[in-house]
Amino acid sequence: MTPAQPQHLVIFVDFDGTAAEEIASNRLLERFAEGDWREWDQQFDEGKISFKDCVLEQFSMLAGTREEMSEFSRRELRLRAGFHEFVQYCRARDYEIHILSEALDFMIHAILEREGLGNLPVYCDRAVFNSNRLVRVELPHFCEDCHCKAGNCKGGHVEKLRDRYDFIVYIGDGSNDLCPAKKRISSSPAADWQSSAKRRASSTIRLRIFI
Ligand SMILES: [Zn+2]
Repeated sequence: MTPAQPQHLVIFVDFDGTAAEEIASNRLLERFAEGDWREWDQQFDEGKISFKDCVLEQFSMLAGTREEMSEFSRRELRLRAGFHEFVQYCRARDYEIHILSEALDFMIHAILEREGLGNLPVYCDRAVFNSNRLVRVELPHFCEDCHCKAGNCKGGHVEKLRDRYDFIVYIGDGSNDLCPAKKRISSSPAADWQSSAKRRASSTIRLRIFI
């Protein structure tokens, strides 16, 4: 039987190393962090700390004003080649795009606004500044109960929004991009998932993960 055409489609896109051509957060840390921020990556890789604690420790090392770091982001950090065209392609077909990222808000917004994409919905970590420097990082999308223990629980977004759409596409390449897959797909990182009839009568909801 031929599946019905998607009626309402959303595409969730990771930022660092996916929408952005490189891990933009690492470039920001290389330029502005005071101290050995890579040490926290190592502790995360060895399973000693959660992803949430890793990014909190790293971002707290950033020494710069919002203006300095936003200007650096606008000047030095690039989107992946073709991403702009991808957004245009999706918009022409009324496909929604949401950026889900563990990166900081000002950096993502600086890059997207430079590209004329400042109106894309972005769900990310939040930097709070005083006049001199970043004073704390807030994690409005942290989920205490989720196994991922990321600062931004991406699976939570998919869960929260999934009933609004007939078809969901997820694009990401980081460890926390597996959270949406693990929440909904038991065995394969690339698979279709059919909803139970009670969740959405007469429709098939598919979640495809590209990593
Ligand atoms: Zn999660």
